[in-house]
Amino acid sequence: MTDAAFLDRLAAIVGPSGVVTGDELRGRSANWTRPTEPCAALALVRPRDTGETSAVMAACHEAGVAIVPRGGATGLVDGTLCAPDEITLSTERMTGIEAVDPLGMTVVVGTGATIESVQDAAAAAGLFFPLDLGARGSATIGGAVSTNAGGLRVLRYGMMREMVLGLEAVLADGTVVSSMRPLIKNNTGLDLKQLFVGTEGTLGLVTRAVLRLRPEPAGYATALIACPGVDDGARVLRAAQSAFQGRVSSFEGLWPDFYRLMTAPGRATPPLGHDYPFYAIIEIECVTEEADRFLGLLDGLMDDGTILDAAIASSEEQRRGMWRIRDRVEHLNADGIERAFDVSVPLSRMDGYVRGALDRLAAIPGCRAVVYGHIGDNNLHWNTTRLDAAGNAAIDAAIYTPLAELNGSVSAEHGIGLEKRGKLPLSRSPEEIAAMRLVKRALDPDNRLNPGKIF
Ligand SMILES: Cc1cc2nc3c(=O)[nH]c(=O)nc-3n(C[C@H](O)[C@H](O)[C@H](O)COP(=O)(O)OP(=O)(O)OC[C@H]3O[C@@H](n4cnc5c(N)ncnc54)[C@H](O)[C@@H]3O)c2cc1C
Repeated sequence: MTDAAFLDRLAAIVGPSGVVTGDELRGRSANWTRPTEPCAALALVRPRDTGETSAVMAACHEAGVAIVPRGGATGLVDGTLCAPDEITLSTERMTGIEAVDPLGMTVVVGTGATIESVQDAAAAAGLFFPLDLGARGSATIGGAVSTNAGGLRVLRYGMMREMVLGLEAVLADGTVVSSMRPLIKNNTGLDLKQLFVGTEGTLGLVTRAVLRLRPEPAGYATALIACPGVDDGARVLRAAQSAFQGRVSSFEGLWPDFYRLMTAPGRATPPLGHDYPFYAIIEIECVTEEADRFLGLLDGLMDDGTILDAAIASSEEQRRGMWRIRDRVEHLNADGIERAFDVSVPLSRMDGYVRGALDRLAAIPGCRAVVYGHIGDNNLHWNTTRLDAAGNAAIDAAIYTPLAELNGSVSAEHGIGLEKRGKLPLSRSPEEIAAMRLVKRALDPDNRLNPGKIF
């Protein structure tokens, strides 16, 4: 079958406006990290529901055409990158919030819905969808499921996996596997939905989801603190977790170069001076009456030198201002510190790891680097300058090589995609990778779903 005949066949399934090709397709970027590179796929196909998705995937299966799932394309490891003979299947017409159950505290959504639209739908029902990350306005539920997204509230609510009760997914040959039960407990054999969480669209295309909602937090106490080092920050976190019993929702570490850059003139207002060795944003879910207890905790930790200085948000505007220091990572790109890294390191070994990596990065000519992250979840983000191939390899080695010995991970929350394929053996044993390949072969024997991603 010619390409034109094949695309006509897909258009017969999804309607002519459901198949995007030519200039309209090239006008779309490959993904968020490659804004000027056009999407290279043969076509972008936009089914309206699970039935159309199944028919498109069956047609691709028959024609031997590979499919790359695409949500908001905000993923940071090239998971949506396409070859010219591949179809990219976008969930952009499956954005429905189908039903909110206020008593059962669940929501049923199409996986093209953005994280923000689900947060808004939950809030409208007096409930709370806890997943939150900087790309919330563009990143989709499908992308968040497929990357097992983490974000800003993992300490309290876990990663995306913990928020998924049910999923509907289409396998490479078009078979629909629907497990849309709104149940917390369901021990009836293999938990099939987990096959699609964090597997980056390599085992199935997720079309619908039942998500768990939570009660809306009564309020927040938020502070920016400065400490002598990350170990002291860890002590503050442990003290707050004991005092507030599981209600610490965020603990974000900011090393000085990151803090200085994000609070440079014209950017976020700096609530504290620029010369401290380590900063953290700590947020606790609590009622207003508990704010004094939070202040008392911070005061005690200042008295014994664990905290050097602190600024408490006394209004929602001040709270948002503090989060702008953490969130506006586009400033890093503007400053040319655009290579993003996402790694995990046990908190107790983070100090030595960061010091060593900063020293090694400083020795690489032309390299600038900043470090920050969800350190309460062991998760560090590095951003560095982009150099030539040798320089980039030296940066990779400085950041990744120590991780194996530290029992760390080369990807905390962004996944492997294409970008980190070569790094997988630093975090996973040959036996683990062989077991992953077995699962992939069982579900997608012809390697047609997001081929080449992860391994
Ligand atoms: C500013 C910014 C901040 C970010 N902060 C965080 C953060 O704090 N924590 C975090 O975890 N991530 C973060 N990310 C990364 C990214 O936003 C998340 O990975 C997000 O979950 C991706 O959603 P998406 O819809 O853009 O997915 P895409 O980029 O479109 O896709 C990601 C992967 O999932 C696959 N996929 C997409 N939809 C489906 C589907 N329906 N079925 C099957 N496979 C699918 C794709 O093929 C690809 O492999 C950030 C990104 C940016 C740009």
